[in-house]
Amino acid sequence: MTDQPGRFETLAVHAGADPDAQTGAVVPAIQLSTTFKQDGVGGLRGGYEYGRSGNPTRAALEETIAALEGGAHGLAYASGLAATQNVFYLLEPGDRLLMSDDVYGGTWRLADKVWRRYGIETDAVDLRDLDAVAAAFGAERPPRMVWIETPSNPLLKVVDISAVARLAAVAGALTVVDNTFATPYLQQPLALGADLVLHSATKYLGGHSDVIGGLVATRSDELAERLRFHQNAAGAVPGPFDCFLVMRGIRTLAVRMERASSSAATLAGWLAERSEVERVHYPGLDGHPAAELVERQMRLPGAMVSFQLGGGEAAARRFAGATRLFTLAESLGAVESLIEVPAPMTHASVADSPLAVPPSLVRLSVGIEAIEDLRADLERGFAALSR
Ligand SMILES: *Cc1c(COP(=O)(O)O)cnc(C)c1O
Repeated sequence: MTDQPGRFETLAVHAGADPDAQTGAVVPAIQLSTTFKQDGVGGLRGGYEYGRSGNPTRAALEETIAALEGGAHGLAYASGLAATQNVFYLLEPGDRLLMSDDVYGGTWRLADKVWRRYGIETDAVDLRDLDAVAAAFGAERPPRMVWIETPSNPLLKVVDISAVARLAAVAGALTVVDNTFATPYLQQPLALGADLVLHSATKYLGGHSDVIGGLVATRSDELAERLRFHQNAAGAVPGPFDCFLVMRGIRTLAVRMERASSSAATLAGWLAERSEVERVHYPGLDGHPAAELVERQMRLPGAMVSFQLGGGEAAARRFAGATRLFTLAESLGAVESLIEVPAPMTHASVADSPLAVPPSLVRLSVGIEAIEDLRADLERGFAALSR
């Protein structure tokens, strides 16, 4: 789609941003018009006729995500879950869907509470267990789609994308990777064999906690055409201003991910040394069971860290209530650091499901502040435990 050469860092700045032919504007315009003049019936000037079907600002964002994921097509939606919903439209009643057993709670809810009513059955397995994946695909009614999230939320499990995609391809199933946690800077699922890659652009791509959005990219013309049909038919499209904000966030993605990942690695190592911490979940820690896979699949292990404290949920709540720079809030992936307790917060809705998380777990989204200040802030959390 894009003809701009360059490495990722260059693409992040330039993809989808050719200077405007008419005005020379270096930044794509926010085109608010909902309709476009036709030169005679059907005579479209730029291919645009109505804002839900297509919009130049949205098209620039779609070109950007296609380029960054190494895809041929990009599609933008009003939220990550709107993107997910549109990917589920590729399924038919009676189809089975296979998911990571710690997939994003909202993804699970959409599959289990909504799509189940329309005849789509969803099974959750640990996708790190390739025997279990092979068994699922060898079943009498094998899944038509496998939904991978890696690293996963909030336990940062790492799934072998190429291995799962190979098993899926043999069974004629589609592989979808939710790449929200890694971003295309750290991990490129299409190159690893995935058919579709999906993002909550609300997180790292937007990067500033100020826009809700979703994106999908693919190399397949056929899948893109079916998704494009449903994007227009169901209408969960993002507004032009939101598209602009996501694009503006993407321009700094590479530098933000470098800084945040480096700080996360330092903090994870430091947390692992603390006596109050029972277990640290971070794919970049020495001795992590997936170290070799992380090396092969990811540029860096990312900026999400979670850890379990002795003392149960009460300790986790006390810790997360004591930090100041790490703001106690849901969401992740922005310039500012966030802290949360998944069991009563982001994962409350999956308490009695296969996706339930340990009560003493604390999740950090490490931002780009000075590492010394972040560490000092976590000391406040530890100090609160002994008060
Ligand atoms: C937030 C998130 C989603 C959902 O995205 P929204 O933009 O909130 O709809 C999906 N997957 C992951 C991994 C997420 O973190």
